[in-house]
Amino acid sequence: MTWHVAEDDVRAYARGELAPPMLWSADTHIARCAECRALLATVTDPVALDAGWERLDAELDAPKRGLLESLLVRIGVADHTARLLAATPVLRRSWIGAVVALLVMTVLVTNSLKHSASPSLFVGLAPLLPLAGVALSYGPRFDPTYEMAVVAPLHGFRLLMIRTVAVLVAVLGLNGLASLALPEYGLAALGWLLPALALTTTGLALTPRLGPVLAPSLVGGGWVVFLLVANQIDGGTLAPFTPAGQGVAAAVAALAAGLLYVLRDRFDTRPTTFGDFA
Ligand SMILES: [Zn+2]
Repeated sequence: MTWHVAEDDVRAYARGELAPPMLWSADTHIARCAECRALLATVTDPVALDAGWERLDAELDAPKRGLLESLLVRIGVADHTARLLAATPVLRRSWIGAVVALLVMTVLVTNSLKHSASPSLFVGLAPLLPLAGVALSYGPRFDPTYEMAVVAPLHGFRLLMIRTVAVLVAVLGLNGLASLALPEYGLAALGWLLPALALTTTGLALTPRLGPVLAPSLVGGGWVVFLLVANQIDGGTLAPFTPAGQGVAAAVAALAAGLLYVLRDRFDTRPTTFGDFA
């Protein structure tokens, strides 16, 4: 083993202050490395660890076992995975409420623009929601289960995938419901789906290099700029929502998913420091 977690990072880890993706690296490494575990034991302040457990207990025990969690367990999701999913911040009522409000407004505006040939505003906005949802699943600022990652190390990429799938199911479901509210556009109202998958996988695939804030911001910003440019070029259906554009979106999603798979270890063990986005 050539790399060890720096002592400062071990201290931050013990205090529960280490941010992803360094947290994920430290988690995975400490689980395998006796030397770093010994260091962790010497720097761990028992009071801080107790406080971490207490915060985690309070978070996880607050609703005994919520509707979502019971449902997940019933359909065969493992207990700890169900608990992790139920505690995913993006799946909480406030965030879902914001997404629903945004979708309702967009659908109302899109329906009021009767003169336009395609639901451009809706299909342009909808792909940004899963991207934002997945991005918001990172990091301690948004994340009560962050404490769980501190006290019970979990494989970083596995955690990321569980989160991503959960957020995608929730947000794509909401987008789908919103599409039903635009019946006069038919299948054109589903034009957001492939771009949504393309944006989300690209944002994730760029995360090991650009970090959990810059990667989704650049991808989301790039999408908006691209739509504005496409809007200047042709007046009818925007390029991404033509059959050719949909094909490109599917290809981008597949490429980014492949890249993400190739880079999966980077979510677990990246032997550099991440001070710039801690
Ligand atoms: Zn080590």
